[in-house]
Parts: sequence; structure tokens; C-alpha cells
Amino acid sequence: MVARIQALKKEKNAVILAHYYTLPEIQDLADYLGDSLGLSKQAATTDADIIVFCGVHFMAETASIIAPHKKVLSPAPEAGCSLADSATGEGLRRWKEAHPNGLVVSYVNTTAEVKAWTDYCCTSSNALNVVRSLPKDCDILFGPDRNLGAWINHETGRNMELWDGCCCVHDEITSEMVQRKLDEYPDADVLIHPESICAKDPAILANPRAFFYSTAGILDHSIRVPKKRFVIATEEGTLHELKKRSPEKEFIPIAPNTICKEMKKVTLERLLETLETECGEVKVPEDIRQRALIPIERMMSL
Ligand code: SF4
Repeated sequence: MVARIQALKKEKNAVILAHYYTLPEIQDLADYLGDSLGLSKQAATTDADIIVFCGVHFMAETASIIAPHKKVLSPAPEAGCSLADSATGEGLRRWKEAHPNGLVVSYVNTTAEVKAWTDYCCTSSNALNVVRSLPKDCDILFGPDRNLGAWINHETGRNMELWDGCCCVHDEITSEMVQRKLDEYPDADVLIHPESICAKDPAILANPRAFFYSTAGILDHSIRVPKKRFVIATEEGTLHELKKRSPEKEFIPIAPNTICKEMKKVTLERLLETLETECGEVKVPEDIRQRALIPIERMMSL
């Protein structure tokens, strides 16, 4: 299957983009492996004719917004995201109406309709930079992740209004779980994704061995810091790349089953079928696409 996928990719001038949360065999096959920001940049710059996006639906949709002349295929078009599903375009329109002076900053984990009502997009990699770049005197409406929003408020000193959404995987990563690992492994740093519910806890935020990062930041810290052990408080798929980059180090998952089942819907079989049939194309209606592109481009230019 791997050989057939590689051959079809060449024949059709296709590129495979995969998120860190996909299955290890998909990560190993990808031309580019990354988090939301890195993958968006790749979609914007690739010269391939076909982008096969291994991730959940909003990610393929974002690629299609950025690269409308490419064929964007999703091997699992039904793969959803609890966070993206927690906000609707209509809900955001009403939120904006209730705060006429507010600028809307939306996490990239949103549908195209939500992006169409957004002023600035951000990812967990660049959220602090995006928020810090906005004028101090403007109100900010941040959505849809309440935990990430609370963490940004803490880090920037802003008082953004927060949408009440969350990622069902990271919302399960509690302060108690983190504290238990800090106690159990006194020599380890605990690297935590800020979508986690513990990102709101002042005690965890103040702990000198607890660090909040995007997936790219977690990777960077684990390579840069000369410790032997790290506890990883994010989706388990990330461990594959962490171990590959630092085989001499030990990575301990925060808990068994910190898994996004939607991300695991992309399998080798489905990837091969997608390349063979070119089914699963993801397209966004042009009027929504044009509006959704504006906040993404603002983010990219920052
Ligand atoms: S891990 Fe959470 S935010 Fe990421 S795709 Fe899964 S449900 Fe969505």
C-alpha cells in the first residue's frame, strides 16, 4: 500500500499533508507533517496539483480556502472536531452584533462560516502574537476554545470575551492529572497544550516545571532542553514525532487514551483509495471562501 501511495502521489503531482495527531503510519508517509499553522503555510505555498489533507474536516476546508485552484482531498471527509462544531456562523454573527466594538479572533479550528465572520484567525502557535498585535483599547471576542482563551488572557493581560467551546480531548487534561505527574516525575518537565482545562489553573500556570505550548512548541522544547524525561499533556499522536526527533529521551503520556478518534479515521487504506479515486474533494462556496480568506491572510501576514 505504501509503495502504491508513493507511486500515485508522483503520477498525480499530489502532496500529502498530515497533522501530528494522525496515525503513525500516516505521519511517516506525509510530505509535510505539522500543526495547524505549519500545514496552512504548506497549503499556501505548495506547487502540487492535488493536496491530500490527512486530518479533520476543518483542516482540509482551510487548505481549500487558501488554495482554491488546487484539488483538496480528504481521506476522511466525515472526520469532525468537537471544537469546530461548538461554534456556528450564525452564532458568531449574533455575538458580534452584541459587541459592535469588538474584534473577533477565531482559532483556526473553526468552520469556513465561522471564519467568514472573523476578523483575525490564529493557531495555538501564533495566538499570543496575534492578540498582542491588536490595539490595546479594542474589545476582543475570542473563540471557540475557552481554555486557550483563558490562557491567552493570562499571558497577555487582556480581558477578552470568550466563546464557551472546547476540544473534548484536551478538556479532559485536568490540574489533578498534571499535578500527579509533576509529583511522580520530579526530574521531568510537563509540556501542556493550552487547550487543556488546566490552562486556567493559577497553580499549574505558576509551576516552574509546567510549560504551555502548541504542538510545534512542545517539539521544540523537548529537543532544546537537555532533560531526559518529559510528560506530554496533549493528543497521543504527538509522541510518535517526539520519539523520532529525540530517541534517547523518554516521553510519558499524561494519561492513557488521550486520543482524538476523529484524527485516527485517516487510515492507509483510505489514503490509497483517495489517491486512486480522487474522491472526498473539499470545497467551500466562493462567497464564503473569499470572506473566510481575509482573517487567514491577516494571520499569515502577522
Ligand atoms: S484534538 Fe480536539 S481540537 Fe483537535 S481535531 Fe480532535 S477534537 Fe478537534
